[in-house]
Amino acid sequence: MIIANSFSTKKVAVMGLARSGKAAVSSLVLGGARVLAWDDNPKRREEITGVGVKIRDLHDINFKDLDALVLSPGIPHSFPKPHPVAAKAKTFGVPIIGDIDILAKNAKNIPIIGITGTNGKSTTTSLVGHVLSYSNISNEVAGNIGRPVLEISSDPRPDFIVLELSSYQLELSPSLGCSIAVLLNITPDHLDRHGGMDGYVRAKRRIFDKLIYDPKIIIGIDDEITRSIYRQLKYETDFLVIPISGYQIPENGVGVKSGNLRSQLPGMPKCEINLNEIKTLIGGHNHQNAAAAVAIALSLGVEQPEIECALQCFKGLPHRQELVREVFGINFINDSKATNFDAAERALSSFTSIYWIAGGLSKNERVTKSFFKKLENVEHAFLIGSSESEFFDAFKNSTPCTKCSNLEIAVKKAALAACNEKKESPVVLLSPAAASFDQFESYEERGDQFRSIVGSLNVEKFSNWKTTT
Ligand code: ADP
Repeated sequence: MIIANSFSTKKVAVMGLARSGKAAVSSLVLGGARVLAWDDNPKRREEITGVGVKIRDLHDINFKDLDALVLSPGIPHSFPKPHPVAAKAKTFGVPIIGDIDILAKNAKNIPIIGITGTNGKSTTTSLVGHVLSYSNISNEVAGNIGRPVLEISSDPRPDFIVLELSSYQLELSPSLGCSIAVLLNITPDHLDRHGGMDGYVRAKRRIFDKLIYDPKIIIGIDDEITRSIYRQLKYETDFLVIPISGYQIPENGVGVKSGNLRSQLPGMPKCEINLNEIKTLIGGHNHQNAAAAVAIALSLGVEQPEIECALQCFKGLPHRQELVREVFGINFINDSKATNFDAAERALSSFTSIYWIAGGLSKNERVTKSFFKKLENVEHAFLIGSSESEFFDAFKNSTPCTKCSNLEIAVKKAALAACNEKKESPVVLLSPAAASFDQFESYEERGDQFRSIVGSLNVEKFSNWKTTT
């Protein structure tokens, strides 16, 4: 655990007591802070026990002598409307921070590799941790990936902390200084929380605010927004700025074309790796993630053979184009984490003959021309959840669509169609392009259910379908 010594004797309120809030409470208490904690959910409050923490309704306390409010990143502080506790902190001029800010203040001697972007953060973060570990560079992976940053072990001191950083977390981390800062891509997402696109881009750019320890910037050039940030930074900063791409080989950067990764980094050995056989890194988007990981590894002096072996044995992450079963040549892929159109578009570009399961809680996104183009790879769309009718109307002129209402019906219908139509390399793909909360607790629960429904499909029946239909 990281101990928040810099908050010794300070009076700190912690709002939001899920995993990262709990870790913040423990870290602050151990560091000698006077901690007041609250969660609007009574169950969460009951889970907090221990000396040195007082459960207090932060809506009612006096903020006058408070030194900081530690806010869970899920709680709005500005848009669409500040939570009343955050609003109160602002009125009293109390700094609003997150757990990453506590880490930044209390683990100053450990260089941080920070990774952000709209999509690909978790995959890249986990890949970077894997490549570094494979090369005997000790590291602790944490952040938005699901492990609270204050749970990191600093004894023995790791060579690096590898952090997945969301836009919400970046807004709450004014002290964060990365040694290597990675921005993968930016497309519209979470705009309600940032007051629009400008606010979202501003939040993402915060990763570059305070760079330390011989810094390097790694930035994707596959979308308009990050491409223009790249051009700007290249001229504005003296630090090394490395462009990366999943679709081309950028000059002085790392990129992938037709599955071949190549690096051209100034003053570093060249690197060439064939990614075509690596099942966990399929598609241009994953090639972008791989390019980011290779750029980091090369800039830390890791050599090509080690990087290559590490990429080859990367296991991938659950719910991201995860192959869950193969039956009679049909691959069942769980991409439940694709909660927006951009992420789903990546999956639709990665396969052909797709029996696509989509829908859930709509994010009311505009469907782009390029998304419609990817529907050419879709044989049939099986729609579920509260966005069922919206998606049906949007896609019915581009691909056959069937409303299935729930996941189980959709999987069965998709499997049956894939079986009957006998296309080459058919794929039953759950890549919802929508949030999960209308029918599930989380995207993880949605993906787990997909895995279990697919697992229980009766293979005997499959062969019947094959022969009798
Ligand atoms: P994040 O942590 O940013 O949400 P993940 O690595 O968990 O990203 O991947 C989420 C979804 O985004 C997956 O469905 C995956 O197919 C897609 N994806 C992964 N990497 C990228 C990328 N570099 N660009 C666009 N989409 C991506």
